[in-house]
Amino acid sequence: MYGLTGCIACLARFACIDTVLRKKFDDIWYYLPVGLTVSFCRVPDAARARQERLQIFPLWKGYSMHIALVYVGGAEALAMSLGERWVNLTRAHQDYERHVEGRETVPIRDIISLVNAGLFTRSFYRRMTEFVQRNDRLRDYLIPPDTRFLAPLRPGKIVAIGRNYRAHVAEFDNQMPTEPIFFAKAPSACIGPEEPIVVQEWHGRVDHEGELGVVIGKSARHVSMEHARDYIAGFTVVNDVTARDIQKKDIGAGNPWFRSKSIDTFCPLGPVVAMADALPWPVAVDIEVRVNGQVRQKSNTEKFIFSIPELIAAVSRFMTLDPGDLVATGTPAGVSPIHAGDIVEVTIPEIGTLKNPVVSGD
Ligand code: ZN
Repeated sequence: MYGLTGCIACLARFACIDTVLRKKFDDIWYYLPVGLTVSFCRVPDAARARQERLQIFPLWKGYSMHIALVYVGGAEALAMSLGERWVNLTRAHQDYERHVEGRETVPIRDIISLVNAGLFTRSFYRRMTEFVQRNDRLRDYLIPPDTRFLAPLRPGKIVAIGRNYRAHVAEFDNQMPTEPIFFAKAPSACIGPEEPIVVQEWHGRVDHEGELGVVIGKSARHVSMEHARDYIAGFTVVNDVTARDIQKKDIGAGNPWFRSKSIDTFCPLGPVVAMADALPWPVAVDIEVRVNGQVRQKSNTEKFIFSIPELIAAVSRFMTLDPGDLVATGTPAGVSPIHAGDIVEVTIPEIGTLKNPVVSGD
């Protein structure tokens, strides 16, 4: 169907969507089925280019607001999800600054710098998605499909929460906590998606612990529950791998269990950081851990004993949380041993699947 009427109707829709809705209803824009409204009639060249641009987004899939760290062209760069595809955000942002804002900037190559620059936000994400498409240079920014994803960030500190799901407390016959239990994990243990978890004979039993990770967005000290969300940049998936035998031995001897949680490679995280707005609030998301495809842990974060605001309030009463710090929110029931040769996958649908092989080290 095309012709004058069709074109006018279509262009009117373009005008409406672009100039009215986007500006006035910033929040609604993300949910408009634009792809559906513009796909029926023929339009002049300029408008067609625009139509193609809009149709790049199957909106029910797109706007996942995921940021990743990738290795591309011999260097690390930030990447931004665009529907099913990935865009070189480091380059796009630099070009945007140059061509739109008329200033030269240092390329931003890591999430913590993006957070510190106040750019880990939905409006920045939207500005960049619009920029790479408006420019008609989307192809220049696309990241090749075989690109390696790295750990999305190296946290300054990792505060992990113990016993935060009732069923997990019960499986180890532990006492129900009356206040959050938190402990540290060494940031040097972090690895990215697809990187191997290295186990050794002397580690004894090693368990997976799939968890939701909260990435801190601004300096948090003595934060109240009601303001906790303002301090969250985004969310990632964490596998709090634990040398269980060593942990039990240390607890039995009255020692800290820091070392059993901090062995090199024992903190896979990623594959992306989803911006805070990508998840519902309060955060109620499914979490599932599979070993060699078999489901071992399956729960939902609405079963937390202590909610995310309670955790941030509790931790920030003791220590300042800095941008890029990670709070691992605890693991549900079903932790089980992993061995060399296994493949461990932790899935939170809103964020993605963190997949790591287990290998034996010497
Ligand atoms: Zn844990």
